Amino acid sequence: MIERFDSVRQGYALEADAVVVGSGAAGAVAAANLAEAGLRTVVVEAGPPVDPSDMSRDGPRFMARYYWEGGLRMLTGSAPIPTMQGRCLGGSTVVNSAIMLPLPRWVREEWAAEEGLPWLLEPALDRAFERVFARCKVAPTPMTVMGRRNELALEALAAAGIPAGPLPRAVEGCEGAADCITGCAGGRKQSVDRSYLPHALRDGARVMTCSEVDGILTEGARATGVTGWVVDPVTRERTARFSVRAPKVILAAGVMASPVLLLRSGIRGGGRVGATLYAHIGAGAMGVMEEVVDPWIGATQGVGAISAEIRGMKYESLWAATNLIAARWGALGARFYDQLQDLRHATVVVVVYRGAVHGRVRARRNGLPAMKLTIPQSEIDTTMRGLRPAVEGLLAVGARYVTTSIHGLPKTIRSPAEVDALVSGRVRARDIPMTANHVFGSCRMSADPRRGPVDPEGRVRGVDGLWVVDTSVFPSGSAVNPQATCMAVSDLLTRRIGGLTT
Ligand SMILES: Cc1cc2nc3c(=O)[nH]c(=O)nc-3n(C[C@H](O)[C@H](O)[C@H](O)COP(=O)(O)OP(=O)(O)OC[C@H]3O[C@@H](n4cnc5c(N)ncnc54)[C@H](O)[C@@H]3O)c2cc1C
Ligand code: SF4
Repeated sequence: MIERFDSVRQGYALEADAVVVGSGAAGAVAAANLAEAGLRTVVVEAGPPVDPSDMSRDGPRFMARYYWEGGLRMLTGSAPIPTMQGRCLGGSTVVNSAIMLPLPRWVREEWAAEEGLPWLLEPALDRAFERVFARCKVAPTPMTVMGRRNELALEALAAAGIPAGPLPRAVEGCEGAADCITGCAGGRKQSVDRSYLPHALRDGARVMTCSEVDGILTEGARATGVTGWVVDPVTRERTARFSVRAPKVILAAGVMASPVLLLRSGIRGGGRVGATLYAHIGAGAMGVMEEVVDPWIGATQGVGAISAEIRGMKYESLWAATNLIAARWGALGARFYDQLQDLRHATVVVVVYRGAVHGRVRARRNGLPAMKLTIPQSEIDTTMRGLRPAVEGLLAVGARYVTTSIHGLPKTIRSPAEVDALVSGRVRARDIPMTANHVFGSCRMSADPRRGPVDPEGRVRGVDGLWVVDTSVFPSGSAVNPQATCMAVSDLLTRRIGGLTT
């Protein structure tokens, strides 16, 4: 049963066999598995269920309601970089582009060797990916819903010698509405509120929304539940306390919130909780064509490629709510007005790169995370090296001009001769308008207690009955879009907790 604000506003005190904090990619999988295993399972989610009438093309309004910190959460450090997380039933899977790729073999081998995690190489993980892909109905994006924007991105990458293709996504019957960032009004995206939570509910789980956990309850060295505030989804006022007592506590609040909850509960893992953070970095190029593209038609991110030249680099087409794209890519004053007119002719290619970046997460006094990310200059240079062929490809397929919105570079690139500026070595992290939505590793999993606070089974060291199963446990960047790996890892760990076959 899904409890909404009206039924929880006075607070509550529940008892269960297992409590799952967060209903996103990891949490929904955990809840479905634990409920299937016969455990009385309660999910506590800070956000509300998304009201379908809010799934409009008004990006800023949707973000204010359903993203943490209104979508304005920032990584600091080398540059201020927006990092977005969904704050709603289904978590970030409701607002993401649903790209689902398996963890590359080379990353599995690297993590297994560096962190002493042999299970990453075992067939059980392949089976976990298969289960996740089947339940999320993952399939290549059909060419019929690409729209001209994705077709042009495909052609541009081909012209640059990068063989791209339709991206596999967790969508059934995509209408090509380019609306993924504001949910999916047509209900096609198989976000976990549609793919996993119904299974958990069918097996008896209770889902408590508008319930923001602020502490893990412990007795001695054992976790005994969680406590927090019921929060009004519109006013954000706290209305009452709640608690869920359970001998199994599963943290799936995401890479920013899970370490903060541990730290606020005095669980520091010998200083390792929040001591690490990784993210994919990137940059983008908008090609403005002669032809009318109407980029708001077509799957949000329909095509992509994995670079054969630069390990850990990906290319993807992209669109978002037009008012967000305009604000992010537009200029000011008269130039902004001109650029708005050009949006009808636009296509976008982005690069996403697993650079050797590192950072940390701390808990702010108000309970929100403070994140810092350091990006070595060499990784910015590599990002620009990766962006170059995307720009060249867009010019080769007839772009009137390409804009990268990178500070200090020409506002428009109109000929191959001008592309060299990208790789001049002058671009700094703070010059690039990047967004980092792939973030990992704030509670690293490792066999070595000196390297991570979470052991190879997902258990938080030093506290019995407490697990972390979200992207916090990744040892570093996944090199591909992380949702599928997050779900497969949660699937494997929580099936083991529940005693299900793997
Ligand atoms: C715009 C965008 C596009 C993306 N596109 C893709 C893509 O196409 N493919 C892909 O693989 N990945 C994509 N990602 C990344 C992917 O969505 C995340 O990596 C993934 O969802 C992480 O799963 P998670 O379970 O760790 O966290 P989340 O899915 O973010 O879930 C965490 C949940 O915990 C809740 N929570 C947090 N704190 C508390 C608390 N104190 N109490 C109770 N509940 C709490 C949150 O509200 C949220 O519902 C994208 C992300 C964004 C933001
Ligand atoms: S592109 Fe549109 S129809 Fe397709 S999954 Fe995204 S929001 Fe849904």
